[in-house]
Amino acid sequence: MGDRTLVTGGAGFIGSHVVDALLDRGDDVVVLDNFNDYYDPKRKVANIAQHTENPRLHLVVGNVYDQSTVSYAFKKFPRINKIVHLAARAGVRASQDDPQGYALTNVLGTRIVLNMAREHKVGNVVFASSSSVYGDTAKLPFSESDTLGKPLSPYAETKQKGEELCQNFSCEDDVPVTCLRFFTVYGPRGRPDMAPYLFTDKIFKGVPIVVYGDGTSTRDYTYVSDIVSGILAALDTSRPFEIFNLGNNMPVPLEELVSTIENIVGKKANIVQKKRVHSDVEHTCADISKAQTFLGYASHTSLRDGLENFFSWYKIFVMHDEKLLNSPKSI
Ligand code: NAD
Repeated sequence: MGDRTLVTGGAGFIGSHVVDALLDRGDDVVVLDNFNDYYDPKRKVANIAQHTENPRLHLVVGNVYDQSTVSYAFKKFPRINKIVHLAARAGVRASQDDPQGYALTNVLGTRIVLNMAREHKVGNVVFASSSSVYGDTAKLPFSESDTLGKPLSPYAETKQKGEELCQNFSCEDDVPVTCLRFFTVYGPRGRPDMAPYLFTDKIFKGVPIVVYGDGTSTRDYTYVSDIVSGILAALDTSRPFEIFNLGNNMPVPLEELVSTIENIVGKKANIVQKKRVHSDVEHTCADISKAQTFLGYASHTSLRDGLENFFSWYKIFVMHDEKLLNSPKSI
């Protein structure tokens, strides 16, 4: 019998790509997602809609911090032997306004998932961590062996705590867990609160974009299919406990991101400059040598190619939907 994998947050941006890849290779997949309204839940429904007829996709709608929901998923769909735990409140800046809500999903939710993994003797858990755990550290590139800095946002704090929980469950309860620190993931179905989506959308519509700082801050943008390959590689090899960076090792200044998007969209940005936000780290860059060695991980997609793919998706799925919504005929 093949693998049955629980993907928490499976209707979200990264999760839905993981679900595609798992179904494509023949796995049985249980998605647990609460379809929250951090961005339009219709988009999350659309992310997995192509699989609604697939008998190997099972959906549980509910909260990952609700013990009875997660227990129900394991009871209704027995033999779950792997978990990709992606469900989280994911916005760095938004976490300042609701630290408790972030802790509820990201910390308690992670504890409940790990408890279930222990109870059901799940063979491998992959936990979605983040480059934000490196906090206020000045050393670049970020390496897994670095001492973590002070977290700059409640979100970053929840991811540090999530990693600690993973390590504890692994040491004390023999739950095998791999923590993957993702670096600014972008691509089709991307999150509307993140710069690649936000800037493309506004530049395309001729709306001003807000740039925080002087444009020299950098991000290690990583294309979603590269991240998915790393997740699957981690999922397929069980280790007692390990942490890997999944990034691009090619930091891009904010001003270059904007000019690349201008070039692809074919319009100039109308830039409004604002002071740097404290919760945003100035630079991120992943040392990916450990992931290369142990996971065979590689980042194959250039920023230009990745943003072009994103823009193709955006024109079809976002603009088409908006046109339908704004058309009087659709009412
Ligand atoms: P996303 O918001 O698109 O996906 C998260 C999914 O989790 C959503 O579908 C949401 O509805 C679901 N969810 C949220 N709270 C839940 C709850 N209480 N119960 C059940 N489901 C819940 O975000 P994403 O960008 O796909 O992020 C996926 C994971 O990767 C998150 O853990 C995030 O912190 C992590 N991550 C993402 C990035 C990035 O650049 N996108 C970077 C670092 C880490």
